[in-house]
Amino acid sequence: MALAYKSTRGKGNETVSASYAILQGLAEDGGLYVPTEFPKLDVPMESLKDMTYQEVAYEVMKLFLTDFTEEELKNCIVRAYDSKFDTEVIAPLVYADDAYYLELFHGKTIAFKDMALSILPYLLTTAARKNQVTNEIVILTATSGDTGKAALTGFADVEGTRIIVFYPKDGVSPVQEKQMVTQKGDNTFVVGIRGNFDDAQTGVKRMFGDEKLKADLNAAGFQFSSANSINIGRLVPQVVYYVYAYAHLAAEGRISIGEPINVTVPTGNFGNILAAFYAKQIGVPIDRLICASNRNQVLYDFFETGVYDRNRDFYVTSSPSMDILISSNLERLIYFIAGSDSEKTRDLMAALSSDGRYEITDEMRARLADFWGGYADEAATLGRIKDLYEKTGYVIDTHTAVASAVYQNYRAETGDDKPAVIASTASPFKFSRSVMTAIKGDVSGCEEFELVDQLTAISGVAEPAAVTEIRTAPVRHTTVCDKEDMEKTVRGWLGVN
Ligand SMILES: *Cc1c(COP(=O)(O)O)cnc(C)c1O
Repeated sequence: MALAYKSTRGKGNETVSASYAILQGLAEDGGLYVPTEFPKLDVPMESLKDMTYQEVAYEVMKLFLTDFTEEELKNCIVRAYDSKFDTEVIAPLVYADDAYYLELFHGKTIAFKDMALSILPYLLTTAARKNQVTNEIVILTATSGDTGKAALTGFADVEGTRIIVFYPKDGVSPVQEKQMVTQKGDNTFVVGIRGNFDDAQTGVKRMFGDEKLKADLNAAGFQFSSANSINIGRLVPQVVYYVYAYAHLAAEGRISIGEPINVTVPTGNFGNILAAFYAKQIGVPIDRLICASNRNQVLYDFFETGVYDRNRDFYVTSSPSMDILISSNLERLIYFIAGSDSEKTRDLMAALSSDGRYEITDEMRARLADFWGGYADEAATLGRIKDLYEKTGYVIDTHTAVASAVYQNYRAETGDDKPAVIASTASPFKFSRSVMTAIKGDVSGCEEFELVDQLTAISGVAEPAAVTEIRTAPVRHTTVCDKEDMEKTVRGWLGVN
């Protein structure tokens, strides 16, 4: 049976195929694509527990991407989850202090974005073929740090694609900038803009909506697509690791099959935790979904009060990938708890855009019982890194620490001690300075790579290749432009005038 997709803001009953939704990224009405129903796992956990990551990936993704053939899907999976991950199991589980850390950072850029962005290029080029698209696909991305590098790495040298990444010239960390400007691949283009992340994002969205630009590109054999987390092609691969984690715990005898577990996810754009919710919908025995925020606690407030309100101060924290006030993927959950009511979703999203806030009904709130919101401020986050290290020797990054601290609060408040999985979203080496500050105190006198060396020494973990590479990699991208000139820069690189 083919699974159809629908826009969360769609009028009427128009549906599209999975491959079309991937190709399109965002629906034309501004909504996000969601499956019209949830498929169910059709292989028992008894079998899944003996499968490799790649095999589980196939069993999960085939349920969602029904218009891909078995051969197409397996081909994408094999090319994505290979030796570019530094461990054969792809997503290992580490037990420390009463929880299982699901390490999602063993890909090329050492953050969890690799889990989906390793496969998205293959899904997208396959989708293009299936929809008779002959244009070259141009991925246009604005980044505040992690997504840009993971997307560049995923799309570098992938035939039939080009990728352009815009980042705020003075708004990313030195390591993040170095990772991006040293990117190899003739089809990659990295541009710093004189402006902030919002300027980059606004410029990119404007180009997506520009009909003249679209026509000129088409005439030259190009079309835009998106690699950010609103693409269903990023969400579906993220469901896989929750199924795999459960199967893996069962295989190791840590849980018995059918036993419920809780999952805690450090959350920004709400993509990762939504994938856990989807895993629950397809039949994984997940009980509570614990949504962990940093000091930008807009989601915590939403779960507490039913009001989503972005009118508040924005804080820069040590977990920058969660510094976000508009969690785009929450729209998919809103649609679900509204009983698949796209008109209601449209109204709420219109309110968000005009007033910066909306309030859900009591009926909708009642459908949120699976979720528990919490947050950790800077002191709690850094304190948790130190405590866990001193207690167990295990070193976690700042984002994972937010989740770990919130999980501890959850347990203390509810007494719920079901087996717990915590999504570990970045390697501590990506945030060496914050992590070493947490463990040692003031390290402001130390250079970045001195801190990396210290981290290697105390964690007993080898320095990841992603870090070693940027110690010596030559800079390949030096373009900087004003925010008004983003389109001109894109046209120039593509040779479209
Ligand atoms: C992107 C990111 C997050 C947030 O994930 P969402 O899917 O946006 O909620 C958390 N941690 C790290 C390290 C990230 O890069």
